[in-house]
Amino acid sequence: MNPIANKKVAIVGAGPGGLILARLLQMAGITVRVYERDLSPTARVQGATLNINEESGLRAIRRAGLMNAFQAAYRPGAEKLMLTDKGANILLADDGGPDLAQQRPEIDRGPLRHLLLDSLFPDTVVWNRRFASLVPNDPGLSLVFQDGTRETADVVVAADGANSRLRSYVTPLRPVYSGVTVVEGTVYEAPTVLPRLHRMLDGGKICALGDEKTIFIVAKGDGSIAYYTGHKLDEQWGQTSGIDFDHPGQVRHWLGQEFSGWHPLWGGLFAQTAAFALRPQYCIPFDQTWDALPNLTLLGDAAHVMPPYAGEGVNMAMQDALELAECLLSDSFPDGRSAIAAYETQMRARTAAAAEETMRFTDIFHSPDAASRLVKFFQAPQEPVASQ
Ligand SMILES: Cc1cc2nc3c(=O)[nH]c(=O)nc-3n(C[C@H](O)[C@H](O)[C@H](O)COP(=O)(O)OP(=O)(O)OC[C@H]3O[C@@H](n4cnc5c(N)ncnc54)[C@H](O)[C@@H]3O)c2cc1C
Repeated sequence: MNPIANKKVAIVGAGPGGLILARLLQMAGITVRVYERDLSPTARVQGATLNINEESGLRAIRRAGLMNAFQAAYRPGAEKLMLTDKGANILLADDGGPDLAQQRPEIDRGPLRHLLLDSLFPDTVVWNRRFASLVPNDPGLSLVFQDGTRETADVVVAADGANSRLRSYVTPLRPVYSGVTVVEGTVYEAPTVLPRLHRMLDGGKICALGDEKTIFIVAKGDGSIAYYTGHKLDEQWGQTSGIDFDHPGQVRHWLGQEFSGWHPLWGGLFAQTAAFALRPQYCIPFDQTWDALPNLTLLGDAAHVMPPYAGEGVNMAMQDALELAECLLSDSFPDGRSAIAAYETQMRARTAAAAEETMRFTDIFHSPDAASRLVKFFQAPQEPVASQ
């Protein structure tokens, strides 16, 4: 018998990691609930397009029996990437090619969430449940939500993302500031309001580089453009800058100064953005470790947040879900603690390597010679990227 047979599993967070875990456990007949702080599936704009890798994300989707739904929802052609300098001169245009299209298909975050939600039994996700604290409740755990409600479970999985509130119940180790802060924005109806940039994107992505800064711009299937800028700033910049992110005009003004001398195409993005999100980027310590608990574990960004510059986050979250499901459903572990320990040991080793690679690319993207180093990398991805 597996360690969670006849037990109740609670997952906190309805992101890609939490939802695919719920699906995999339900397929094996396990009772699962997912508690999500969003008010409803459509309450929040879902961010940019995600590349799904064959050996990780797609493997989990396949095992969850969702390949047909994925094939109906992914966006062929969205893997196209253009690198430009700050003057919008094209340095490299990578159309992906047939192999890349097969191995790293792109899907918008909203359709990915919908297809995962559609795969679950009705009412699996309990919306408007913001996790607040965890209380032992022998033999299980009680989840206390911000609205005062409580739920009990035998096993709890923290899938509550980059700012996980559950992480501290597993480990005191905290992610470390990466040195880069992101400002995120979305422009709706891009074909009308930014026709030139929309045509240039042609359904794909642009990364503009210069002055040790970046702008990643992504065309989405609904006609909007999602983008995020990257800046080398102090960790506390959000508090010390005096810029109030609830006042978009202040952010626009600051972005105008930061990117002065850059091509007006990029300025058009800022001018058409109604709301901005400030996201200082954190990364796990590469050597993080902790002792496994019998009934609580972490997956996805809650376990191993890192900056987005290697495009691995969602893939690792889904691979975690697959490997955790395999351990919890295996009858070769005598109890929950040993199943969780086996999952966490392999998860930490795999994601430490990804974190090191991600930090290397975070530095390269924001280095003085980012353009030449990245052009060389995209032309010969197997070659080591030149160091400064
Ligand atoms: C700007 C940007 C661009 C990115 N681009 C890429 C990319 O191209 N490719 C890629 O692979 N990755 C990318 N990532 C990373 C990727 O988004 C994450 O790694 C991935 O979403 C992690 O999935 P997750 O399920 O662990 O967490 P999330 O997707 O963050 O989901 C966590 C869920 O938990 C919920 N939640 C949070 N707190 C609570 C609470 N207290 N109570 C209840 N619910 C809660 C949230 O509302 C959310 O629904 C990017 C990230 C950023 C910031």
